[in-house]
Amino acid sequence: MMPKSDIKDMSQDQLAAWLEKRGIASYRAPQILKWIYLRQADEFEGMTDLSKEIRTLLDSQFSINRLEKNRVEKSRDGSKKYLFRLPDGNVIENVLIPERDHYTLCISSQVGCALGCRFCLTGRGGLSRNLTSGEIISQVRDIQKDLDEPKSLTNIVLMGMGEPLANYENVVKAIHTLTDTTLGLGFSNRKVTLSTSGLVDRLPDLGRDTTVSLAISLNATDNKIRDWLMPINKKYPIETLLEACRRYPLKPHRRITFEYILLKGVNDSAKDARQLAKLLRSTRAKINLIPFNPFENSEFQRPDESVINRFQQILLSNNYTAIIRRSKGQDISAACGQLKGHHRQAH
Ligand code: SF4
Repeated sequence: MMPKSDIKDMSQDQLAAWLEKRGIASYRAPQILKWIYLRQADEFEGMTDLSKEIRTLLDSQFSINRLEKNRVEKSRDGSKKYLFRLPDGNVIENVLIPERDHYTLCISSQVGCALGCRFCLTGRGGLSRNLTSGEIISQVRDIQKDLDEPKSLTNIVLMGMGEPLANYENVVKAIHTLTDTTLGLGFSNRKVTLSTSGLVDRLPDLGRDTTVSLAISLNATDNKIRDWLMPINKKYPIETLLEACRRYPLKPHRRITFEYILLKGVNDSAKDARQLAKLLRSTRAKINLIPFNPFENSEFQRPDESVINRFQQILLSNNYTAIIRRSKGQDISAACGQLKGHHRQAH
């Protein structure tokens, strides 16, 4: 028997069209979505405002999938790493990070990644496949259900496994559900951040199709180093990437976050910091500095604290907002750079 498809892979319009084709009024689509996203329904049977016939029909065609929780690891600092097993046996990881008054959840967009950045574990295994929009949404919906206070999960970052813009259609469809305040999960667009290694040809689409926050994984100030660290740079060198950022249709008072992993002796000099300040001069930018977290057999090291602080000071003295992101969850390998198959280090 063919497995049923996950109804969360459908947008409202797709579901309405599917229903209409079967002679069912399209206004049933929002009713169904409210059950799934607002009331966290797991089966059609309990959707009491639908007729028995509609419920039976939906049940014969669709499932409302939950991800299979393989393992949850808790860190001493309160972070939690979730490992989910997908129906095809692949495993994806998410990290739930407690902040002062809310949670941030780091989610994945692909199983593996084709882009092969040198400092990233995900890139090592190559790309297995794209996640469906339903699988992307489920990471949030399922973890939300796990929380005592679901509303305390307010921030989503697409910084887990995969390059989100390489799975554009599914990612954007998922974002629309995550940020739909009437029929979806209701996250603020501002508080959903998509982080990319810089697939320049997709940035105009993203700016047109969403208003989520944008982060760019930059990590170097000259093309030679960035080519070596991130092979995507050979296709879209730094100048091309920054030009696309300057053209990006940012809403008023919003800025692009530039992520910069500090790698000892590679990109952490005072000259690099000054060059970074110069490069971002005409961009609405803020900067996240991420001291590298070594993983097994990684070829890079974390810079000394004095070097990290010097780098930050140079940016601050050039009037940038520059925050050092000290990773959480290191004892459970959930920190930036330590997730098996992930790119939080970078994105
Ligand atoms: S850093 Fe991101 S784009 Fe680069 S290999 Fe890792 S997951 Fe892919």
